[in-house]
Amino acid sequence: SPIPDYLKQVLEQVRPNDDGAPADYIETLANADTSKLAVALAMVDGQVYSSGDDSVEFSIQSISKAFVYAIAIEDAGLDAVLAKIGVEPSGDAFNKLSLERGSNRPMNPMINAGAITAHSLVVAPNATAEQRTERILDVLSRLAGRQLSVDEEVYEAELRDADRNMGIGYMLKAAGIIKCDPREAVKGYIRQCAINVNVRDLAMMSATLCNAGVHPLTNESIIPQASVRQVLSVMTTCGMYDAAGAWVSRIGIPAKSGVAGGIIGALPGQVGLATFSPRLDARGNSVRGVAICERLSSDMGLHMMDVS
Ligand code: GLU
Repeated sequence: SPIPDYLKQVLEQVRPNDDGAPADYIETLANADTSKLAVALAMVDGQVYSSGDDSVEFSIQSISKAFVYAIAIEDAGLDAVLAKIGVEPSGDAFNKLSLERGSNRPMNPMINAGAITAHSLVVAPNATAEQRTERILDVLSRLAGRQLSVDEEVYEAELRDADRNMGIGYMLKAAGIIKCDPREAVKGYIRQCAINVNVRDLAMMSATLCNAGVHPLTNESIIPQASVRQVLSVMTTCGMYDAAGAWVSRIGIPAKSGVAGGIIGALPGQVGLATFSPRLDARGNSVRGVAICERLSSDMGLHMMDVS
């Protein structure tokens, strides 16, 4: 197949770009090796292609929000989730302390307020952070096709510096959006963000979304089709922080990025893609990752609004 050579070529094209900087709010991320660069594609038939540092692990961070939204829908039901979390792009930074006017809900599940709420709906309202993270780790591992684990160093560092997320948790509690102890919800959310993955894991997780929730290799139905539609819709409108509009028009693939430098893209019925490079742009998206996705989208004609 010509695909591995092509992927290598794409990586070499974006490698000279050293714009941006790794996330610096905790040391573990600030000290990331910025030379690392990787890409993976997983087809809905289970074929995986990758290039570069494809076995290097990094924390999943906000990419987890897409999958935990699906788990919340499974555990609490779509109506209960929609009653507590909106589906409108916020246009604000991901960690903004804000609620939708009128409904008093977080704007969407891809910003921290919505993600912490989604986390609180996993398992049951009175579940502990341990029970929730165990459930999340189990689903994410089945999606990846191997046992994943939490990066304890990232977890501890984020927990020491969680004032803002704790503030969001208390805001949600005061607004009646979350019922549990807000500290438990935020601790669990931080733990979910600290799960380690590599680009091949992410591509496979994404390919499962593209394949109506059925894992391409194990054939296990992990996420119901109706939830997949909900998740991909919200990824399309809200997945790339406050750059979601530019992303949809330029690249045209439902996507989600994380501050450790990962990005997933999911084109339904076709391909799940994943990139990794730690330097971020001003919006918090990986600079080289965005460049890789732009290349793949244009070279392979992946924009969802294009007719092939
Ligand atoms: N743990 C990070 C936070 O909540 C995740 C942010 C992200 O990846 O956007 O601040």
